[in-house]
Amino acid sequence: MKANYHSHTTRCRHARGTERELVEKAIENGFLIWGFSDHTPYPFPGEYYSTFRMYVNEFDSYANTILDLKKEYADDIEIHLGLEAEYYPAYFDKLLELVKDYPLEYLIMGQHFVGNEPNGFYSGAGHEDIAVIRAYADQVIEGMQTGRFSCLAHPELISYKGKDRKAYEEQIRRICRCAKETDVLLEVNFLGLFEKRHYPREEFWKIAGEEGCRAIFGIDAHDPDAVDWPKIVYQPACDMLARNHVELVETMPFKAVHP
Ligand SMILES: [Zn+2]
Ligand SMILES: [Zn+2]
Repeated sequence: MKANYHSHTTRCRHARGTERELVEKAIENGFLIWGFSDHTPYPFPGEYYSTFRMYVNEFDSYANTILDLKKEYADDIEIHLGLEAEYYPAYFDKLLELVKDYPLEYLIMGQHFVGNEPNGFYSGAGHEDIAVIRAYADQVIEGMQTGRFSCLAHPELISYKGKDRKAYEEQIRRICRCAKETDVLLEVNFLGLFEKRHYPREEFWKIAGEEGCRAIFGIDAHDPDAVDWPKIVYQPACDMLARNHVELVETMPFKAVHP
């Protein structure tokens, strides 16, 4: 694995290690490209704070830390400044406004909540109501259609526990079709694969293959140890894509955050 665009810093409050440790480990492991995509700050109204992301006033130090490393390590590795963001219709414009003066290179969509977070609910819990899956699909589709997201991280984070598999597949297919149309890459999430979470799911990738989607691998590193995970999960991930006829893209073309 030569490129990874999905990694976090301690600002999200559930990651460990320094940015420098990640970069050095990446170089040691033969990476040519390393992207930082920490959980975005979100300018929510009032006192609301969502425990798994940096504060708005930490964004400046995040950006500058990555930009300094980018210069310092320019001869050894290509470093990119990105963010992992949810698409929250009520606050997305405010987020774009917040980051507009920074050379932010890419956004990946990680839709951790359905709705607008302060009054939405967590996507990753098991849901029995197909309406929830439909709402997730609607939101992810609307997000991809903004043209600002280069990739959709762990697309199958939403988990369906109900019995109507056909209805579930229909919603997955809508997501895949839109990803194909808008040329958004779908991520095979190595954190999920390594920790044997409910994603990646074979049934998702089967549909992604049928719809002609393209995939990218993302380590979703919250810890320097994660830089070693490809040694274990890279091959099974390649096998899964091959089984389902999904093309792997190794370097991510960036869609402009501020076109
Ligand atoms: Zn995280
Ligand atoms: Zn992540």
